[in-house]
Amino acid sequence: MDQKVGKRFEGKVAIVTASSEGIGFAIAERFGLEGASLVVSSRKQKNVQMAVEKLKAKGISQVLGVVCHVANPEHRKNLIRQTLEKFGKIDAVVSNAGTNLSDEPILKIPESIVDKLWEINVKSAILILQEAAPHLNKGSPVVLVSSVSGYDPVPPIAMYGVTKTTLLGLTKALAKEMAPHTRVNCVAPGIIPTRLAHALIDNGSKRESAEEGTLLKRLGTAAEVAAAAAFLASDDANYTTGEVLLLSGGAHARM
Ligand code: NAP
Repeated sequence: MDQKVGKRFEGKVAIVTASSEGIGFAIAERFGLEGASLVVSSRKQKNVQMAVEKLKAKGISQVLGVVCHVANPEHRKNLIRQTLEKFGKIDAVVSNAGTNLSDEPILKIPESIVDKLWEINVKSAILILQEAAPHLNKGSPVVLVSSVSGYDPVPPIAMYGVTKTTLLGLTKALAKEMAPHTRVNCVAPGIIPTRLAHALIDNGSKRESAEEGTLLKRLGTAAEVAAAAAFLASDDANYTTGEVLLLSGGAHARM
């Protein structure tokens, strides 16, 4: 990361789900560079361990790694329990986990895949927050990760887009339910080159047309999404709740 960062999260404890790589890792890194004590997590121990080591190598010393498959109830409980045991509090939660799994039209997707998309992208976000909410300090922010496709669910990942539409609604609903104690906001990125987006940009022409579809003529970066999540979670956004910050290089402005 080459952006200049402040220290907006000094003394704060932040949990980021699905954070051993991709956008989740970038968010953890940004929060950590801004002074947060971090809890990073994902399904695989070796990935979690690597993420912890990478963050420590960047000078972020307060990092706990926990294996947490967001769809596993015991893992969710353990994530919160271990955070409290290690750091004694929770000041911010970023619910970042998401999967796009299927490239089939909605009317052809097997039921099991529909279930999986709902489970990871929507239900797990709700259930993680149910676990965390009783422990959130007053003023602790929540950030959800939706997508531009939540506004315009298009093939080949239309069903994924529909789950992300739900997160836009969930942001509004939780902002009302958790106010005034907790602010709930959301980031909605366009295509960011990560493992998840690989199939959308896995050849030159797909990537070029994705870039061409933006006003800025390039794809975004995970660090840019992280900067937006950090803003929403910081005191700089203290009067902002129930909002969605789009990061699509202007692609959405063209719709
Ligand atoms: P990614 O690169 O595929 O993220 C992979 C990370 O998630 C890894 O740390 C992986 O580690 C972990 N993970 C995967 N499934 C998990 C699960 N069930 N429970 C816990 N951890 C899990 O994805 P990304 O592109 O960074 O996406 C992050 C979020 O941004 C998602 O919600 C996605 O929908 C959203 N988003 C992405 C884009 C994009 O273009 N990339 C655009 C808009 C929105 P393990 O393998 O160890 O579990």
